[in-house]
Amino acid sequence: MRALIVRHSPWLVWAGVAVGAGGLTLLWWTSTLPPTSFGAQLTEAGRLTGLFAGYLVVILLVLMARLPLLERQVGTDRLARIHSMVGRYVVCVTVAHMVLIWLGYALTAHASLGAEVTDLLTGYPYVLWAVIGAGLFVLVGTVSATAIRSRVRYETWYLLHLLTYAGIALAFWHQILTGAQFVPNAVARWGWIGAYAAATALLVWYRLLVPIRNLWRHRLEVAAVRTEAPGVVSVYLTGARLDELGAEAGQFLRLRFLTRNAWWQSHPYSLSAAPNPSWLRVTIKALGDHTEQLQRIRVGTRVLAEGPYGALTARRRSRHGVVLIAGGVGVTPLRALFESLPAEEGRLTLIYRASRHEDVVFRHELDEIAADRRAVVHYLVGPPGPGQEPALHPNWLRRLVPDVAERDAYLCGPGGMMTTAMESLRECGVPARRIHHEDFNF
Ligand SMILES: Cc1cc2nc3c(=O)[nH]c(=O)nc-3n(C[C@H](O)[C@H](O)[C@H](O)COP(=O)(O)OP(=O)(O)OC[C@H]3O[C@@H](n4cnc5c(N)ncnc54)[C@H](O)[C@@H]3O)c2cc1C
Repeated sequence: MRALIVRHSPWLVWAGVAVGAGGLTLLWWTSTLPPTSFGAQLTEAGRLTGLFAGYLVVILLVLMARLPLLERQVGTDRLARIHSMVGRYVVCVTVAHMVLIWLGYALTAHASLGAEVTDLLTGYPYVLWAVIGAGLFVLVGTVSATAIRSRVRYETWYLLHLLTYAGIALAFWHQILTGAQFVPNAVARWGWIGAYAAATALLVWYRLLVPIRNLWRHRLEVAAVRTEAPGVVSVYLTGARLDELGAEAGQFLRLRFLTRNAWWQSHPYSLSAAPNPSWLRVTIKALGDHTEQLQRIRVGTRVLAEGPYGALTARRRSRHGVVLIAGGVGVTPLRALFESLPAEEGRLTLIYRASRHEDVVFRHELDEIAADRRAVVHYLVGPPGPGQEPALHPNWLRRLVPDVAERDAYLCGPGGMMTTAMESLRECGVPARRIHHEDFNF
């Protein structure tokens, strides 16, 4: 029964969300008299959109909590896309709520729009706070828009993103103290407070308390650092009760290295070897400030870990044959899967794309695993770029893996390569449900 619930958890979540939305609509419907004027119609539409904006915020909080079950079943990159979609809805529905209430109240009171703004901001408790909160949502939403986000440093974007919490706190009180569905109805009011309290508790538990408990319980620290290629190091972590972390090959941890310069940043890194009770390994390519610092991280540095996260695991496998397609540093989770993924002898293939021979990491380990497991590894080396991925085109793919259509495919690498590989796999007859991938950019 538990396995059934876990397998269908994404659908159960969607069903739960739909039931919640239906319940809110029912609450609004049963507590609303038929509006008799255009102003009253706008006001009621404003109240309904307000309820939905508040509800979407609860969903956003739950998504921010990074629930392990969802992370494992849905996958982090998909959850990140859902998170940004819900975020956009929050901004749009909140703005619609404010405009509808403003116009509806002004028409009903026969007041000018300017006078109505003053009345709303000064005459109703916490409405001014809510408007400031909505302003923060709009600010965060604007900065997160793809065009602007790509021009802003990740850390700046992340710190700005924290303003969402302030926005949620500021917007909460006017719902309870002025909401037409909550003021006269104690059950609805306490239910709403309960939903926000539960979502906040999940967030505090999984994002704050569990990592602190892990620090104390697992006492992770850097045990060794090994250079794998120019600008790429493997960091070995040891600690206590590592098996209780529940990490699987293909997953990643968000790591916070507790040094003077890096303690405030947590970055995601995939396990580059199947986890074992004695040590964990991540392999890091220098791309920016943090990854650059880690090339020289000192043995003994304490590490705070969040996770494990990610759904690119053996649980996704549905066939006896598997093809793994890696590009650049995207080889890290696939290296761990190559070592541990159950597959029929002779039907496990790793295709590893790298720009230069010196960029190929783990060559020795991969050859050894291939020999031990009677698996196959193909190294495709050459400069990247448009039209430079011939070996990932369908004909080549079929030549390298003749039964590719019968296999599961696991992918991790740069965006362009992943797109080419996915299109080729589809053309070779691999259905989307058997193509599993992890995106390093979210
Ligand atoms: C699920 C996942 C697994 C990953 N696994 C590995 C791995 O095994 N090995 C490896 O070398 N790299 C991995 N990465 C990429 C790695 O997290 C980034 O290269 C690193 O965070 C860059 O930080 P920086 O300060 O050095 O670079 P910056 O110059 O600050 O950023 C470079 C790029 O990384 C992104 N980035 C920066 N900080 C973060 C963050 N905290 N969270 C998410 N993205 C961020 C930025 O948007 C930018 O696109 C993984 C990323 C993800 C999402």
